[in-house]
Amino acid sequence: MKNLSLNVQILLGASLGLLFGVLLHQWPTNSPLYQNSLFIFTIIATLFVDLLKMILVPLIFTSIAVGVANLRAHQQIHQVWTYTLGFFILSMTLAIILGLGSAQLFTPGKGLNLALFQDAMQHYDAKHITLGDFTQSMLHGLFVNPFAALAQSNVLAIVIFALFIGIALVQGGERYRNIIQLLQEWQELTLHIVGWIMRIAPFGIMALLAKLTTTQDLNLLVTLVKFIAVVIGTTFVHGVIVLPLLLYGVTKMPPLHFWRGVREALITAFATSSSSATVPVTLRCVEQHLHVKPDIARFVIPLGATINMDGTALYEATAALFVANLVGVDLNLLQQLIIFLTAMIAAMGAPGIPSAGMVTMILVLQSVGLPTEAIAILLPIDRLLDTVRTAVNVEGDMVGSLIVQKLVGHQKTLAS
Ligand code: ASP
Repeated sequence: MKNLSLNVQILLGASLGLLFGVLLHQWPTNSPLYQNSLFIFTIIATLFVDLLKMILVPLIFTSIAVGVANLRAHQQIHQVWTYTLGFFILSMTLAIILGLGSAQLFTPGKGLNLALFQDAMQHYDAKHITLGDFTQSMLHGLFVNPFAALAQSNVLAIVIFALFIGIALVQGGERYRNIIQLLQEWQELTLHIVGWIMRIAPFGIMALLAKLTTTQDLNLLVTLVKFIAVVIGTTFVHGVIVLPLLLYGVTKMPPLHFWRGVREALITAFATSSSSATVPVTLRCVEQHLHVKPDIARFVIPLGATINMDGTALYEATAALFVANLVGVDLNLLQQLIIFLTAMIAAMGAPGIPSAGMVTMILVLQSVGLPTEAIAILLPIDRLLDTVRTAVNVEGDMVGSLIVQKLVGHQKTLAS
């Protein structure tokens, strides 16, 4: 094991995890073998994700503060902001158009027996949120006492506070040289710890995938197979064709070179279903394998992990049309436009944690009067769908960092 590269070890861990899961799925759920194995997988999986979450908060805070401080010093903050946000909005727009288009084409949900789900829907106590409430709570969550935000791992609030600190540091100039240096050293220290955590990543990923496969409800998957296939297929098209084309168009980087560099992050995102927990790995991949300069990467990646979610945006749009088909509602063009806009807001507002998209999905359904109880149908299959959409969310952030670097002509002007 020691002689294999980390990439290969992670691939091996992922394959073994899937294999163990499929085998264990055949076992009776009350047998000691099943129970004990699941117990062990759960412990290893939880420890791995906990470790990533532990290092996440100091890493994000120091990365963004130092990243912004360095950018400002080079007068490039405006360009980086504009290109980053521009790319995020463009790639999510393409994802939503793809999601709406494929749902129109394949009409998942049409002809499904609604009675099957009525029971599930009746027992689900749907929450109602208005767009106003949602926007208000999102805005209210932006500026939070930084100590509370750090203590509660409130990633969006940490990002905002770190941006403030970064900008203030540069405005203060030489006076704050020591603080910048301290933050820089803190950040290097946290990255050193990320290196340790990555050593156990193959085991963590194996356990996460074994647990996921073992606990899937096959009957439900079979009933909803068309919807699942449309979502996974379309997400793949976005991740394998659209994003690489954008990347190639701007940077001329061949897709294979890109994927080779980002494998670790994609597999970690797939296994953890959390863009935020994956940030330490994402940063490593773009900086070490694809040579994105730290001041671009450390700005784009943590920000992207909280607001740039192509997979989630695509999913929200497709799932809304699926629910419309299920209840026999035909959505007109205006309603689809509303879905487009709310899917974008919902994806940006969803934190990078497992199944966050499910919560903000309520907003999308409500926006066109679809029954929010339909979440009851989507929830049981969400752990499965969340794997692929999180991987594409993270892929979008990595493509973004490469494109932004190219657009600001980074190589000429910035020192790392
Ligand atoms: N799990 C996703 C992520 O972390 C968010 C979602 O539920 O769509 O990126």
